Amino acid sequence: MSRVVCLGEALIDFVSDVSGVDLMDAPGFRKAPGGAPANVAVGVAKLGTSAAFLGKVGDDPFGRFLARSFGEAGVDTSHMLFDTKARTGLAFVSLAPDGERDFCFFRNPSADMLLTPEELPVDLLRGCKVFHYGSITLIQDPSRAATLRAIEVAKEAGAIISYDPNLRLPLWPSADAAREGMLSGLPYADFVKVSEEELEFLFGSDDVPDGIGKLHDMGIALIAVTAGANGCTLSDGERQVSHTGFRVNAKDTTGAGDGFVAAVLRHLVEADRGTPLKALPKDEIEALARYANAVGAITTTQKGAIPALPTAEAVQDFLNTH
Ligand code: ADP
Repeated sequence: MSRVVCLGEALIDFVSDVSGVDLMDAPGFRKAPGGAPANVAVGVAKLGTSAAFLGKVGDDPFGRFLARSFGEAGVDTSHMLFDTKARTGLAFVSLAPDGERDFCFFRNPSADMLLTPEELPVDLLRGCKVFHYGSITLIQDPSRAATLRAIEVAKEAGAIISYDPNLRLPLWPSADAAREGMLSGLPYADFVKVSEEELEFLFGSDDVPDGIGKLHDMGIALIAVTAGANGCTLSDGERQVSHTGFRVNAKDTTGAGDGFVAAVLRHLVEADRGTPLKALPKDEIEALARYANAVGAITTTQKGAIPALPTAEAVQDFLNTH
């Protein structure tokens, strides 16, 4: 039985062959497995903790490619579903001249959006130690109802609940709907990871300690605010610990946040944390901030998320030399 279950979207990122162009001028694309919760499952499995991915893809070559890629990385994909009517979601991505990622999504609707509560493997959800979800399946029904039901089942069975509210504005009807929808996933979570940008979007302020306070007020025990190359702040309500991050030759930041989340989830499992999630000892939270930053940093050093996510051994080597 997998210790960590990640539910959400799996899709293909078609990444522009050349960077520094927007999608209009991109000459060609290379396919890469994507979807934040799927990346987290891969990250956890590569770190050596058992993980399952739960989600629906199309019964098409892209959906099968995704299942094969996650399986090869060590993820239990036996509960993935293949929809015969809807296609696997696609996202075309390029790094525009201004350094921002230019996205174009093909999901009208894609299979991941059509996961229903009835399709959930209840035993898998009852047996996990950590259940993780994101904000993309919260956008519309039936995947929203499925996500909320899965949270309920896992929570009732005593799992630690983890949430990463990814900001993908083009997928929501409006910015207000995105804010409301992302906020709606927060009250169930024991652990939440947000970037500084997402925290500002959610609460309309760039005051990180204030945002952390608001998240704790919602009942969230452990909070990570990531700041790209500048590292992270972890807060467990008793103390806030910042780690400045590692200087690396970053080639592609795709999946860095997912690697960071995977590192935290792996720690919660291996340290045998339960619910309710309690404050961590000082040395443990400091070590966790450093460890998660290391996983995030290593993930930026290679192109693509899955190939770049490190093994436990690679993280140890990195930590020994940094
Ligand atoms: P997201 O990918 O969710 O937007 P961030 O960009 O904040 O999240 O990255 C998550 C983590 O990955 C950071 O907290 C940091 O540990 C690591 N990271 C990201 N970008 C870099 C970078 N350029 N150099 C070193 N570490 C990085």
